[in-house]
Amino acid sequence: MYVPEGVALRPRCLEECVLSCYWGISVHSLQSALQAHQHGPPLSTPQRFQTAMQFQYQHVQTFHISREDTEEQFTQIPPELGVSDFGPLPRTCYPLVALLTLAQPEVQSEYNVVASMTVIHVPDTSYRLSTRILFQYLLTSQGSMYELKPLFMSTEDGGQSEPSDLDENTQVEGSKPNEGLLKEGFYKEVQEEEEMEEREEDRGPLGAARDCVVCQNAPVNRVLLPCRHTCLCDSCVARVQHCPMCRAFVLESFALSQVHLATGIVWGE
Ligand SMILES: [Zn+2]
Ligand SMILES: [Zn+2]
Repeated sequence: MYVPEGVALRPRCLEECVLSCYWGISVHSLQSALQAHQHGPPLSTPQRFQTAMQFQYQHVQTFHISREDTEEQFTQIPPELGVSDFGPLPRTCYPLVALLTLAQPEVQSEYNVVASMTVIHVPDTSYRLSTRILFQYLLTSQGSMYELKPLFMSTEDGGQSEPSDLDENTQVEGSKPNEGLLKEGFYKEVQEEEEMEEREEDRGPLGAARDCVVCQNAPVNRVLLPCRHTCLCDSCVARVQHCPMCRAFVLESFALSQVHLATGIVWGE
């Protein structure tokens, strides 16, 4: 019998964190949990998440992540559970959800982001599509959610790039988690995007330091929200109210390097 592959996750945390990996998690329960988060209290601990989920998952595995630890953590659904697939399409459960939360309650007040949630597809007998991230959210202490999405980087010739493979925050505060975020037909969409993604891989990574479009004297390092344009250096961002590329009002921004979020997750097979 085929057992779903394990997944190696490489979290990078500025503080001690708990990485909890939920296998075979109910789509419906995850939606309820995200709704519960928006109405508070925030899903800042694995216990709160599990309660909000009403324990609708097949297996959980927990790892303690030290500060600045970059080791890979390997998680797999135990073969003795006899799980060979996560159900027929369309799916009613996600193969894997990785939740990163701060290990020490004392430091939670120092960060706006209290949890990072990554929904991961893992191949099984009924669907062999390779392992990939389906969605990634950052959950804040105020009960809002940011979906991590591709960035828009300015390119050397002044044009705008296609969205890159880098992650970026898009605020989805106010929108209900079941509106578009956790679509029932998500597996169909993933399949349709598969060919496109393969072509995108040929494009190569984005060049590292491009110059700030305002001062042209320092590397681009700030992502503007909500428009997601990434065209300013750390010092110029304080001087603009509107995005230089699209004129959208800048609600907030974050740095690309010198990560200031409490949690982040990198994954691999
Ligand atoms: Zn600048
Ligand atoms: Zn913009």
